[in-house]
Amino acid sequence: MKYNNLINGQWVKPSSELYIENKNPANREDLIGLFPSSTSDDVDKAVNAARQAFEKWRLVPAPRRGDILKLVGDKLLSRKDEIAFEMTREMGKVFAETKGDVQEGIDTAYYAASEGRRLFGHNAPSELPNKMNLSFRVPVGVGGFITPWNFPMAIPTWKLFPALVCGNTCVFKPAELTPKTAHTLVEIIDESMREVLGRDYIPGVINLVHGKGSVVGEAITGHSDIDLISFTGSTAVGKRINQVAGASLKRVSLELGGKNAQIVMDDANLELALDAVIWGAFGTTGQRCTATSRLILHEKIHDEFLNMLTERVQKLRLGYGNDKNVDVGPLVSEEQRNNVHKYVKIGIEEDRAELVTGGEFAEDGDLSKGWFYKPTIFKNVRPDMRIAQEEIFGPVLAVIKTSSLDEAISILNGTRYGLSSSVFTNNVNDAFRAIRDIKAGITYINGATIGAEAHMPFGGVKETGNGHREGGWTVYDFYTEWKAVYIDYSGKLQRAQIDNY
Ligand code: NAP
Ligand code: MG
Repeated sequence: MKYNNLINGQWVKPSSELYIENKNPANREDLIGLFPSSTSDDVDKAVNAARQAFEKWRLVPAPRRGDILKLVGDKLLSRKDEIAFEMTREMGKVFAETKGDVQEGIDTAYYAASEGRRLFGHNAPSELPNKMNLSFRVPVGVGGFITPWNFPMAIPTWKLFPALVCGNTCVFKPAELTPKTAHTLVEIIDESMREVLGRDYIPGVINLVHGKGSVVGEAITGHSDIDLISFTGSTAVGKRINQVAGASLKRVSLELGGKNAQIVMDDANLELALDAVIWGAFGTTGQRCTATSRLILHEKIHDEFLNMLTERVQKLRLGYGNDKNVDVGPLVSEEQRNNVHKYVKIGIEEDRAELVTGGEFAEDGDLSKGWFYKPTIFKNVRPDMRIAQEEIFGPVLAVIKTSSLDEAISILNGTRYGLSSSVFTNNVNDAFRAIRDIKAGITYINGATIGAEAHMPFGGVKETGNGHREGGWTVYDFYTEWKAVYIDYSGKLQRAQIDNY
């Protein structure tokens, strides 16, 4: 089946007439569909449509825009299992996780819907008599949205829903590897707009342009008529986007890589810490920006914990994520698997690190049809090794030994990233010191490094981003401009700072 782009309210072929195959990473014989390989011409058309739509969409009352998002949430809820099944088929993570991914979209829809009735501004007293000062939020304009494949539903919704409720119009380029989930999402948004607005439907509020980052992504980032870019993906591409978009002073939000660590202190509940690291390191086959890729163990529990961990990891069942009883799906692509294996070889070659388990392709039986990799653990890892510094984005865990909380925190902080972090301890003083001293956007106490909730600020420090956050209330600052308004009802010219002092 061939899918198309949505431009100006119409499903249209890409101008190239070329399509990209979308295949199941657990079974490369399973073809899901053909998706457009679009060009900069398609981006131009989408941006023109979004620009024209903006002049009407910005005038639709925000609560009405919120009604549309409420309906989007309802439709996602009613189709949750079907969307999750197809998402597992297209990107590999297990069904329970893809259901969670859709649920995050539902939560974000309902939050955005209610924000349509909030979008608070501020007022402040004037320094002059008979004068009133107000400030309120106005939309920014046309947004470009570029997303990765690991959360094919949640991440686009984190961006599109707040952008839309604030009155912006959208040009959306999803990851090449997960176009089907993006198609379904945009179809639902467009249907909901038609149902709620009826004859007042505005074509071009949301436009979907499939294709390659190097073509479609570049065209969006460099487009002179786009006002803002919201990007989630790798730090390398994020830096490139910042440069290209910076040339035309676009507002840019970047959510980038991570090298997250879980610390386990000697007083921790080890069973709990074990469940957490299994989930954090091997959930989504390690392909999460918040994945646990370093485990920092206190020396007093190091050997015992590593034995418990190895035993559990060797029992993880690999397979197609839509089959019950599967714990870990494949990697998303051949390229991704080769990249993971490259890092495993680097780890083996690096001085002193020792492979405890895994470290190879999983190819028994049906696994040979997909991009499976054995869950992998390295021990005796030094904090400065490449496998402890660089984002691997796969089921590879580097275990590092420590002798104190201070040292553990300094190891945790010692990378160029700062997204998520976790500390297992039953010592309340240590927990609070960790919360204070860890340099990361997210810290979990006695929880895994993954598990963000839709209404909390999400993002990181250092090379994980450029200071913005998604989720929760903070993202509404990104999608709005502040307009300050002064109303003088004195009947005379009152000069601030001059006539009153
Ligand atoms: P990626 O290679 O950076 O790609 C992300 C998106 O950017 C894709 O849609 C990609 O298109 C597009 N793109 C590639 N080159 C581009 C360019 N020159 N200009 C504009 N767009 C371009 O990242 P990924 O491999 O999909 O995802 C994994 C990365 O995302 C990891 O580093 C992970 O940590 C990060 N991530 C971060 C967060 C967070 O919130 N901090 C969340 C999830 C993932 P193609 O599909 O054609 O490649
Ligand atoms: Mg990529």
